[in-house]
This record gives sequence, C-alpha cells and structure tokens, in this order.
Amino acid sequence: MQASDTKIAFVGLGLMGVPMAKNLLKAGYQISGFDLNQEVAAKFSDDKGFQFVSSPEQAIQDANLTILMLPDSTIIDALLWGSNGSAGIATQLSKDSYLMDMSSSSPISSKENNQKLEKLGIKFIDAPVSGGVKKAIDGSLAIIVGGKKEYFGEIHSLLECMGKSIVHVGDAGAAHAVKALNNYVSAAGLIAASEALNAANKFGLDPHVVNQVFNASTGRNNTTENKVENFMLNDAFNSGFSLALMRKDVQIALNFIENMNCYANLAKQCVLTAKEADEKLGKGADHTAMFDYVRSAAL
Ligand code: NAD
Repeated sequence: MQASDTKIAFVGLGLMGVPMAKNLLKAGYQISGFDLNQEVAAKFSDDKGFQFVSSPEQAIQDANLTILMLPDSTIIDALLWGSNGSAGIATQLSKDSYLMDMSSSSPISSKENNQKLEKLGIKFIDAPVSGGVKKAIDGSLAIIVGGKKEYFGEIHSLLECMGKSIVHVGDAGAAHAVKALNNYVSAAGLIAASEALNAANKFGLDPHVVNQVFNASTGRNNTTENKVENFMLNDAFNSGFSLALMRKDVQIALNFIENMNCYANLAKQCVLTAKEADEKLGKGADHTAMFDYVRSAAL
C-alpha cells in the first residue's frame, strides 16, 4: 500500500498509537485519527497529513485502511458491532478495505471478527506489536502478522514504517495468539525476577549485583536485561506499559491455553498475581511496579 493511494483511519491514539501514527505520517500517509481522549489531537499539531475527527464513523469515511490500537477486544467488539443500542462501524467500512487490529487482542475474538468481516467484504489482519513505547517512537517494533498471505504482501511496506521485524505467523487470529503467549512468557519473567530480587535483598544481598549475575547466567530475560535497572530498582516504574494491560494479556494467554486443553498451572498463577497487584496498586500503575507490589506484599 503506497502512501499516495492510501487513506488511513487510526482509532486509538494512546501511548503506542501516537508514535505509530506519527511514523506513518512521516512516510507520507494521510490519517484521520480518533480517540475518546480529545486532548491527543494537540500531539499532532506539527504533523502534516493528520486530521483529528470527532467520531470513529467520521474517521473511516473513504478510508481504505482502518488501524485499531485500542486496549482490548471488549472495546474493539463494541466499536465494530455496537453496544448498548448504538450501531458499530463494521457495516460502514468501505468494501474491500482493510481492517488491521494492531492492539493486543483476544485471538478467539479476532477469529470471529475475521469471519464476520469477510462476509461484509472487509479484509482483516491482526498485527499486534512488541517492543514498547521506545520502539514505537523509533519505528523498530516487532510486528507479528496474521491473516491471508496476500494481505500480508500488500500491507508489508506500510508496516515497515513502524517496525523492523515483521513476521507472518498464520491465518487471522494467529498473531494475536502468538502475542498473548509472548506476553505471558514475559510476565512470568517479570514476576519471577521481582520475587527473586526481593528475597535476595532481604537476605542482605545487593540486588544490582544479583541482577548482574542473572544477566551473565541462565536467569537472564527481558526483565533482567531491560527493566530491573531502568525502571525497577530505581523505583521509577515508568516503562510506559501498564499493569492493567499486562493483566489483560496474561488472562488472554490463559484463556487460549485452556481453550487448547493444555496444562496451564503457571499461567493461572501469573493471572492471579497480576490481578492482586493491579487491584492493590490501582489505575495507572506501570507493569514494572510489580516489583513494588512483591516488595510490599505480606505473606
Ligand atoms: P493506552 O491506554 O495508552 O491507549 C489506548 C487508547 O485508546 C487511549 O488513548 C484511549 O483513550 C483510547 N480508547 C479507549 N477506548 C476507545 C474507544 N472506544 N474509541 C476510541 N479510543 C478509545 O494503551 P497503549 O499502551 O497505547 O496500548 C494499546 C494496545 O497496544 C493495547 O492492546 C496494549 O496491550 C498494546 N501494547 C502496548 C504496549 C506498551 O508498551 N504500552 C506494547 C505493545 C502492545
């Protein structure tokens, strides 16, 4: 999809959506953007080719690609199919246009949405991302893609404006499955590192040194390499990925694993820990504050 013949509707301009949209604008794409939070419009005041509109219906007018970067599948399903008596946008999308869900959504919902959208003549792609706000800003996200191979071919050059590693993993919903499983493995690493470093500290060990040892040993993971020093041991807890979203992701992964009738003991425990921490730390807590929760949790 070339910038000259593509009009994008971008719904969901939060921590990730804003930098992703900005990279598309830099590449020359035209965007009609919508978010419930109208204050985000000001973030695009210096960008050419961007128009903030007052409804999703307005954003999708004449769009041949609609990108969703929203919190979860409940919100996406309501947007597409309607809720509480309001009509959804699905039936108003242009025939033969693309709907690309880049959020971390439920693979089961995405498969169902694909089937329903196909009947309306809409081409569905799931393209969740990994790498966080920093990689969204510098356009180096890892993008996992699900949907028909021919759609992947058509969308590839546009995805290159936002990501570096772009991998097609299967049919519609497959990318959302891989993304949820990835985030479960990542969350398990975060919780394990938080518990281990807290206990080491109580034993009188220097957690910075302990983490150095992990990073030179087999306990090394994304948390020990990138989060412990930057966001956790310094009490910053500001990585830009919320605990509420991490909780949602591990729940999606658990649902998926159980749906496959597979063993899910650790996933269940991760869901429980994420729920407890999210409820204790409250709205707005960063996922790296898991360390703070573990530190303060009484046995
Ligand atoms: P965010 O909460 O910062 O942004 C979500 C945006 O959606 C908000 O601006 C909100 O106002 C808007 N919104 C909610 N409901 C809406 C609706 N009905 N219509 C229009 N706008 C609506 O979240 P984020 O961190 O940008 O994450 C977005 C998605 O990307 C999530 O699925 C998340 O799991 C995933 N993700 C996040 C990160 C990260 O590091 N933050 C990394 C990879 C993937």
